[in-house]
Amino acid sequence: MVLLGVLTLTLAACVKFAAPQSLPPTATATPPTPADVETNVSREPPPNESCNPSLTLRPTELPEAGKMAPNTTMAAIHGRGRLIVGLDIGSNPFSFRDPLSGDIKGFDVDIAREIARAIFNSPDRVEYRVLSSADRIEALRSNTVDVVVKTMSITCDRMRDVNFSAPYYVASQRILALRDSTIEDAEDLAGQRVCAARGVTSIGRLQQLVPSVKMVETTTWADCLVLLQQGEVVAVSTDDAILAGLAIQDPWLKVVGPGLGTEYYGVGIPRGQDDMVRFVNAVLASITVNGRWQQIYNEWLSVLGPQYIAPQPIYRD
Ligand code: GLU
Repeated sequence: MVLLGVLTLTLAACVKFAAPQSLPPTATATPPTPADVETNVSREPPPNESCNPSLTLRPTELPEAGKMAPNTTMAAIHGRGRLIVGLDIGSNPFSFRDPLSGDIKGFDVDIAREIARAIFNSPDRVEYRVLSSADRIEALRSNTVDVVVKTMSITCDRMRDVNFSAPYYVASQRILALRDSTIEDAEDLAGQRVCAARGVTSIGRLQQLVPSVKMVETTTWADCLVLLQQGEVVAVSTDDAILAGLAIQDPWLKVVGPGLGTEYYGVGIPRGQDDMVRFVNAVLASITVNGRWQQIYNEWLSVLGPQYIAPQPIYRD
């Protein structure tokens, strides 16, 4: 009995020690802010809608794949052995790096690969140059790329600097907000901080609709996503198709409100290369007719709705 008592006491002494006090934190962490974030740096001109983005040059008859007519832009690209395509690798589902394979994939990538298929008879003959939204025009002006296929809207202002193909996709500007926010429309953004990538069409349109909006400009759309998640901005505004790609990455986000404006995506082509415009228009017409456009749409964009059809160009000659 005595032994049992001693044992109990000893055990109690062993297990009954004071829990260590939690130490005060020695450092606090603030979430990292994406580099190169600027607030209200510029007022962008509102989109100038005095031209028709669907109006373009009539396609040439497509030559046999791999056999380009001499002295053409396409023959020069063929001679080099690869098509140099400017795009982004963070615009899911248009162009992004697949984390499993490391390959660059998406809707824009497949459009670019169809252009390469027509030139080389092989869709793999492409070399990608990664561009931010703000880099697109300069890349075309300096001929560092053959084409830009990067959710690039055909606008009257951009047409002064570069050529565009016929539209190959039509998007609509909308708003991405936190699921529990009360933001429902552009008016709810008055006086608020809203993010967009630098050099995009949505900035000027939103500033026109809501003059008191405070635009926060970043290099990539992924940076805008981070700022929204950290509460540094209340919304992101750009094309619905790009917003859908961001919303898919975070269940706490939602795309809200009606369309604020229409965006016609075209393949950007350096100025002076009308032969390339006609050639790319021929590729777009052929993939529309043979069902490949629909296949590409179904593969990457069916989340936006199954009924979508390729936009109809208007040929001006
Ligand atoms: N479609 C818009 C534009 O061309 C946004 C696209 C983007 O940032 O990639 O400005």
